[in-house]
Amino acid sequence: MSDMKPSDPGIPDRSTASLGDMPAEDFRVTAHEAVDWIADYLDSVGDYPVLSPLQPGEIRASLPAEAPEAGESFDDILRDFREIVIPGVTHWNHPAFHAYFAVTGSGPGIIGEMFSAALNVNAMNWRSSPAGTELEELTTDWLRRLLNLSEQFDGHINDTASVSSLVALAAAREKYLPEARQDGLFGAPRARIYASEEAHSSIDKAVVTLGFGRSGILRIPTDDEFVLRVDLLREAIERDVAAGVRPVALVATLGTTSTTSVDPVNEMADLCEEFGMWLHVDSAYAGVTAMVPEFAHHFEGVNRADSFVVNPHKWLFTPVDCSVLFCRNPDMIRAAFSLTPEYLSTPEMDVGRNLMDYGVSLGRRFRALKLWFVLRYFGAEGVRERIREHCRMARTFAGRVDAAPTWERVAPVPFSTVVFRYAPEGLAGEEQDQLNMDLMDRVNSTGQAFLSHTRLQGRIALRLAVGNLRTRQEHLDRTWHLLQEAAREDGGAP
Ligand code: PLP
Repeated sequence: MSDMKPSDPGIPDRSTASLGDMPAEDFRVTAHEAVDWIADYLDSVGDYPVLSPLQPGEIRASLPAEAPEAGESFDDILRDFREIVIPGVTHWNHPAFHAYFAVTGSGPGIIGEMFSAALNVNAMNWRSSPAGTELEELTTDWLRRLLNLSEQFDGHINDTASVSSLVALAAAREKYLPEARQDGLFGAPRARIYASEEAHSSIDKAVVTLGFGRSGILRIPTDDEFVLRVDLLREAIERDVAAGVRPVALVATLGTTSTTSVDPVNEMADLCEEFGMWLHVDSAYAGVTAMVPEFAHHFEGVNRADSFVVNPHKWLFTPVDCSVLFCRNPDMIRAAFSLTPEYLSTPEMDVGRNLMDYGVSLGRRFRALKLWFVLRYFGAEGVRERIREHCRMARTFAGRVDAAPTWERVAPVPFSTVVFRYAPEGLAGEEQDQLNMDLMDRVNSTGQAFLSHTRLQGRIALRLAVGNLRTRQEHLDRTWHLLQEAAREDGGAP
């Protein structure tokens, strides 16, 4: 075997053409079909069951356990896509998707994603993708201006807010525990990062990943409106300092995941200045509303933060994944992550930006393209109007909850998410929790709406988020009707 030559009869004679990619003409025909399918899908996505009705394991069981030995026709591949994959999809683009945070993979965003897949560039350094690098600089700077962040903030794109927060906290570690990069955390003073009880779990993950351990994060209690209590935060920091623990960072959440509450950034910035800490603002969902003048008051003080994360893939109509991290001191990010092996050094190294210096991964997708398409297609005013309308629909829904004697709203509605529960008289505690979970499951199993839940101060509450471009008042009317019907079926008053 080892001394076989290409002319040996044991090696099949293939023309090099048959070893190439899909022929251009086949690609053209199939891609046209695919685009037709996508256009029809987007147009009729509201007719699909929003939550996949399949049981765990069903999708895998319907497909072969092994990859095909011989290539297959696209007809066969697309048939399985339609018949097996699509029924297993929970439709985030559905107008009645109200779970978690509602999102949209918009037309311009999808087209941007298609082009970035076609170009397939890897924006590691400037040379490997000049346009990928510079469009990322330009687009994040457009967004910075729209969000009214000061020009000191420098933006770059990550896949998710989890990674953006990890990068921000790595920069904080670099600034306030600089010895960690060389020597690790062994022997370093114990360090602490503070965030509210309502901060996203990605902050804990980042803290653990960075080596601070679970005890490296202290969750600070919130008030009745789920806002971090600065008085308790100060006490905690003072206690730590007295015990020799080094405060490294505060995380303020502007738009918490459960209730979209807004932490007091200005007061937290005061503490950061007093004690020497990094201020990271997690505004993954609500950050885009900084574009809308009526919401500007929620963002007072953000220009005092060291870093700010917002996810265009949440409420800026950009397909997953796209998270922008703005940082006032990008040197700290580079100090934490820059490490250039010889094969990646280039003459432009010190002139152009090298995105590989901004996080863990070397390779980077051309994500800026879809965000650039989205911002250009809708325009700032188009985005603002859409956000306003989503918030208006959410307030109308909240008004219905408020007016219904057997339902209660459990948090203010600063943006487009309503948190509420069914609370008929005489029902409390775990019984009420169970009933709410049952109602939610009943609504979700209709396939006509999808809600999610959370736990607040120990009790279950339901969440309805508005953020999809196809959502209209009629979808919310329908969801409210489904909830009332579910309550009636349960023998309660709607
Ligand atoms: N931060 C907040 C406030 C969130 O609500 C979420 C997710 O909903 C995240 C971070 C994590 O986002 P990602 O999925 O982009 O990591």
